[in-house]
Amino acid sequence: MSELTLRDLAAIGVERLKGVGDKKLAGLREMGIETVLDLLSFYPRRWVDRSQECRVSDLRPGLESLVLVTVRSVDKRIGRNRRPIVEAVVGDGSGRCHVVFFNQPWRERQLRPELQVALWGKPELYRGALQLTNPVVDLIGDRTGRIVPIYPQSEKSGLNTWEIAGWVEDALRKCEPRGLADPVPTEVVARLGLSPRAIALHDIHLPETIADKERARRRLAFDELLRVQTVLVMRKRTIERESRGIRHEVGGELVGRLRAALPYPLTDAQQRVIAEIEADLAGPHPMHRLLQGDVGAGKTVVAVAAMLTAVQGGHQAALMAPTEVLAEQHSAGVRALLDGVTVPDPGNLFGDRPLRVELLTNRVTGSDRRDVLAGLADGTVDIAIGTHALIQETVAFHSLGVVVVDEQHRFGVEQRAALRAKGDGQLVPDVLVMTATPIPRTAAMTVYGDLDVSVLDELPPGRTPIVTRIAEGPLLAQGAWAAVRDEVTAGRQAYVVCPLIEESEKLEVASAQETYERLVHDELRDLRIALLHGRMPSAEKESVMSRFRAGDLDVLVATTVIEVGVDVPNATVMVIVDADRFGIAQLHQLRGRVGRAGHQSQCWLLTGEASEGAGVNPRLEALRDSTDGFHLAEVDLELRGEGTLMNTAQKGRNDLKLASLRRDRELVEQAREVAFALVDADPLLDRSPLLLDELRVVFDPQDEEFLFKS
Ligand code: ADP
Ligand code: MG
Repeated sequence: MSELTLRDLAAIGVERLKGVGDKKLAGLREMGIETVLDLLSFYPRRWVDRSQECRVSDLRPGLESLVLVTVRSVDKRIGRNRRPIVEAVVGDGSGRCHVVFFNQPWRERQLRPELQVALWGKPELYRGALQLTNPVVDLIGDRTGRIVPIYPQSEKSGLNTWEIAGWVEDALRKCEPRGLADPVPTEVVARLGLSPRAIALHDIHLPETIADKERARRRLAFDELLRVQTVLVMRKRTIERESRGIRHEVGGELVGRLRAALPYPLTDAQQRVIAEIEADLAGPHPMHRLLQGDVGAGKTVVAVAAMLTAVQGGHQAALMAPTEVLAEQHSAGVRALLDGVTVPDPGNLFGDRPLRVELLTNRVTGSDRRDVLAGLADGTVDIAIGTHALIQETVAFHSLGVVVVDEQHRFGVEQRAALRAKGDGQLVPDVLVMTATPIPRTAAMTVYGDLDVSVLDELPPGRTPIVTRIAEGPLLAQGAWAAVRDEVTAGRQAYVVCPLIEESEKLEVASAQETYERLVHDELRDLRIALLHGRMPSAEKESVMSRFRAGDLDVLVATTVIEVGVDVPNATVMVIVDADRFGIAQLHQLRGRVGRAGHQSQCWLLTGEASEGAGVNPRLEALRDSTDGFHLAEVDLELRGEGTLMNTAQKGRNDLKLASLRRDRELVEQAREVAFALVDADPLLDRSPLLLDELRVVFDPQDEEFLFKS
């Protein structure tokens, strides 16, 4: 019999395991475990090392320790402030100890007498006796062995970690006679010092030592990363192979005219990135590149240079933004940059014609819309700027050459594909994706692994760093309002950003309204102040924005509609209300709206009164201490884990269970390298049938169509 593949494991139901009857089966289903593959890739959450445990008699106040104990008694009562308190007495042969849980009433049900548990915590002296307060609790059951795996448990499934461990053991035993197939070339396994897959799969569940578990994790994490990278690299190569791009003519007059018209020299980073883009544009394959650059790094000029290259050769360019406000901002910004730039026009006696830039959003209607659509179709519109409206079916381009997507994590792979399809059907347009939320390199390799990456890692000169302050509670917030008044007196302007309410835009608008009313009547009385939110009629929004831009308003109170793109250099203060509701990336993005000219700028992060003992929110602290977007991105990944990053519309990446983009950077790079080597030597993976089959087991046919062809 041949060795077992993942497909084989996926074909065996868990009901075949010892002791799995209807009731247990339902519990397993509840946890998403239907097959032996599901079970074996349901990894322990922790591993308790019994050799590291200490005896109760060895516990010392203030010293974090792990004890393996039996529950003696459990009791629940209601403490002061009506908070439920669960108290337990636990012990081992050497002595007894008190355990207290605040606000965890369910512990009473969890900790039944006679149960074996591992407790991890820092004992303290309370009324002369040792006590553990809110320790980490792992139920051990009657498992023996030096290292005990602790599986994620859910109350709903009614399954214990030791039951799961038992089934895993049974499954592994049943796999043993046939062994497990290994899709990774032996040469790679040896070179990278990886454990054999069969051993890894055993040791992740039932290691002899913690070091064994670590080795197992590394191997299985590599496999996860290799699968993701192989799919990404194949997608990248498939696009390159199957699509013919336009060989743009670079170094033409137009980009030169743009450079000459700029009031500033390009930074070295801008020049380097423009060169990278031009190399792509000149090549036979369509460009598929990600441009990362911090807020204010000057991505717009780079995008415009790319678009002009298309226009130079008689093609069109499109810039797609995630919101209408942003599209309008871009349109204003791009027009300003291109003011006076003309296009060589062979059909014109005078040799030149004005460049035509048009906006297309759902707000452009009636005859305006018909005009723009006609211009796109006959090629008289050179540059189109808009929202999703640009990829609607009714929009046809004469000859779309370059597409810039200002993405902000809001467009997925599918939309990028839809845009590519807007070419003339034969030649695929070049695509540049811009993001102002820097993400760490290894994360970019995974989330945007089918793109090439350029980084604008230098801010234009003359920026003064923004001073960021955290103000807790209404009293300290007075400092922020005073700062706003001072700046306005000095002729500057301010933004006030209202609390983000993710659950409901309606609530968010109501709360913005409330903040606005309060400021108008109280803290910012006498200032020229206006409200801007997403539910306002477009014309009104535009009028508020243009008054603010023109300096006819002192303070703009806004919801996150101003998150990106708004560029008013005279604004020098930003106050963010309930800043702890926002994520790091978003706060950084918001803060980038100030500090755009030479003036000293400040950002105030307001939060509610801190509850006693709770330290300052680490996200806000990170923002206070750094204005470097790449550094903040690392901190963000550190604090949140990668879950959130991967979930941002990145389907098909949920295969990363053990691999961490944060901890396993080296492994990500190695997996990518191996993926490139494999795919470039053997584009359809004809010589790696095991790996190809594994990809088909793990990924969704809808997301990765090309994998399932033939
Ligand atoms: P991003 O989109 O990357 O956040 P923008 O393209 O909006 O940044 O540029 C931010 C500001 O910097 C704009 O006001 C722009 O005019 C200015 N800027 C861009 N490049 C340069 C440069 N090389 N030197 C000076 N100012 C620049
Ligand atoms: Mg921008």
